[in-house]
Amino acid sequence: MSTTLFIGLGHMGSPMATRHSREHRTAVFDLSADAVAQVVASGGATAVDALDHLPEGIDTVILMLPTSRHVEHTLLGAQGLLQALPSGSLVIDMGSSEPDSTRALATEASRHGIDYVDAPVSGGVPKADSGELAIMVGGTPAAVERALPHLKVLGSSILHVGPAGAGDAAKALNNLVSASNIAVASEALSIADRFGIDPATMTSVLNEATGRSQATELKFPRYILTGSFDSGFAYDLMLKDMTIAMGIADGLDTPVVDTVFAQLRSSRGRLGEKPDHTEIGRLYGLGATSQPPTQKETSK
Ligand code: NAD
Repeated sequence: MSTTLFIGLGHMGSPMATRHSREHRTAVFDLSADAVAQVVASGGATAVDALDHLPEGIDTVILMLPTSRHVEHTLLGAQGLLQALPSGSLVIDMGSSEPDSTRALATEASRHGIDYVDAPVSGGVPKADSGELAIMVGGTPAAVERALPHLKVLGSSILHVGPAGAGDAAKALNNLVSASNIAVASEALSIADRFGIDPATMTSVLNEATGRSQATELKFPRYILTGSFDSGFAYDLMLKDMTIAMGIADGLDTPVVDTVFAQLRSSRGRLGEKPDHTEIGRLYGLGATSQPPTQKETSK
């Protein structure tokens, strides 16, 4: 019977694979045996012990891996899945990958008679849990059509933005804006604090006025002003996405985001091991003493 192999069960892949297994026959694999055991225990998925012994019936692969290097390692070479999968299979890469790598992989997949779709996501762990991710899709119309039954289980917004690699480009640009929003709002809150306005009050002002963003509505109240810094999206993955976005800018004049990127990259050394991306706020002293807004103030 038709089975999907879901590879990469980290912060995002774990809740996504669990949701997927409720609607489609799903097998799961991760380098971490604990991650596999957890997903198997929480839903209807079965475990795959090693990728060189694929169970019968696998015709779709969903990848939720950290970077394009991990995706290439999994798909290419004599032991890679593009060799192992039957012709007519479908690969959906849902991680935030590099457009050039994705284009090359889609070309290589088509040589094996395999459809390839890049379908990176936005919304973080909360939306992965609720199945309300925003999904940006690249691929041929026919390949995207095949991917839809899988994507609909995971996301509430699915936008086909262009050919292979276009989803990845759109995702990187989204995260360039998203990270910049956190940095700009952090600076504004630190200025507010210096002026004598509490950062939580200033966050409420932004959320009632035109300075609001998903960062001010969710990330500041939940992860930054509380000092929890536990959104589940790593600072280094955010820098990876910004690097992808700046790479595709390809010489365009982008002085504002150049500055934000340079600042966030050079500040990385001031944070500890494996910081969360919301620790941008920590760079400005936020989360140490400030109080989060009340429930009413964050209810939007
Ligand atoms: P993560 O580091 O939490 O999880 C990655 C998982 O992949 C780990 O469980 C790891 O063991 C596994 N893995 C690594 N190499 C592997 C391999 N060769 N074979 C099998 N498993 C392997 O990462 P994440 O936060 O879940 O992010 C995954 C992707 O989604 C990244 O591209 C990231 O940029 C993107 N993303 C993350 C978020 C978020 O909020 N965390 C949101 C949107 C997009």
